Amino acid sequence: MADRRAWRPIIFSCPTTGDRVQALLPGEASESLADNLYSISCAACDGIHFINLRTDAVVDPKRS
Ligand SMILES: [Zn+2]
Repeated sequence: MADRRAWRPIIFSCPTTGDRVQALLPGEASESLADNLYSISCAACDGIHFINLRTDAVVDPKRS
């Protein structure tokens, strides 16, 4: 059920392959999401990346 959510496309650089990948993010950041991180499956490396919904930046949990 995503009727109240507007999805927006973004382009990010895969931190594993360096490729540019298109993904969809929920239109609004949610206070219920810890640190506003959204997990997406990456088409370039088949992995999972976390996107900060406020900055649209890829977050690498291994680096803090
Ligand atoms: Zn990737």
